[in-house]
Amino acid sequence: MHKHKKLKPNNILLMFIISFTLISIIFLHINDVNNKSKLPPPAISVSNNVNKNPTHGINIHLKEHDINTDSYNNPKEHNSEKPPINNGKNGFDASIIQDFLLKNKIKSDGKKIAFLTFDDGPSLEVTPKILKTLNEHNIKATFFIVGNQLDKHPESKKLLMDEYMQGNSIANHTYSHNPDKLYPKKDVDAKFFMEDLEKNNTVLKNVLGDNFHTRVIRFPGGHRTWNKTAEVDHILKKQGYVFLDWNNMTSDAEGNPKTKQELIDGYKHTFKGQDKLVILMHDSEDKSTTADALPDIINDLKSKGYEFETLT
Ligand SMILES: [Zn+2]
Repeated sequence: MHKHKKLKPNNILLMFIISFTLISIIFLHINDVNNKSKLPPPAISVSNNVNKNPTHGINIHLKEHDINTDSYNNPKEHNSEKPPINNGKNGFDASIIQDFLLKNKIKSDGKKIAFLTFDDGPSLEVTPKILKTLNEHNIKATFFIVGNQLDKHPESKKLLMDEYMQGNSIANHTYSHNPDKLYPKKDVDAKFFMEDLEKNNTVLKNVLGDNFHTRVIRFPGGHRTWNKTAEVDHILKKQGYVFLDWNNMTSDAEGNPKTKQELIDGYKHTFKGQDKLVILMHDSEDKSTTADALPDIINDLKSKGYEFETLT
């Protein structure tokens, strides 16, 4: 009798736990069915609707890095079977541009396209100004990201996400950006280069989500600057990477800091009316005049009949 009395509360507790578990399972199932009917559109159109339909991978990583998640409020919208996101709105096949830059020829379609490219960022000072200008003109660009900047300034991870969510293309500019290690004595160290590239990929995925992938890369200093590239070229090709140099530059990273007008002059000096124009600029910390010169450069290109696309 005494024993029976002791068991009774336990039985009630057990029944309560079973009931709670059953209710939870039913609730989760209903929730899951609801979410499946709200999945975002296929990957290709994600970049066109980035503000409306962020993917779950993005949400997870926003959370992990304590970035404001207010506008990305449904972490259940995940579908891990989705193909990797090929980022960049109005993406242009980067391999065609690689061929063009390397062999300086392209089967001309007569279409004038400008590719604005920004290296070495993101930076807290300059990147937001550039994003604002791009937004105002409804133009997308390609950002060549250096991972060590993101680790040095964790606040800049939010800017990388902003670039991405705005429909820009995110490309890989190595993690270290250290020429002494990447190119000792000006010769490419293929092993270090590939490791550094992969390290950068990991950093990008940590911010943008595991589904993020980019095949577009740029050698710090440019591919054409370095010797003994054959080995790394072979590996890059095998792994599906596309490296891109440029055929126009503002010279914002050459020598002393430049004024806004000097940068515009640099752009004009290297402008030869190319059908496909890849413009080298930088959005690193000390490049505030690049942000100042950008609206003039965009307006000049527009007046010359150029459209703007990203490299993907
Ligand atoms: Zn660089």
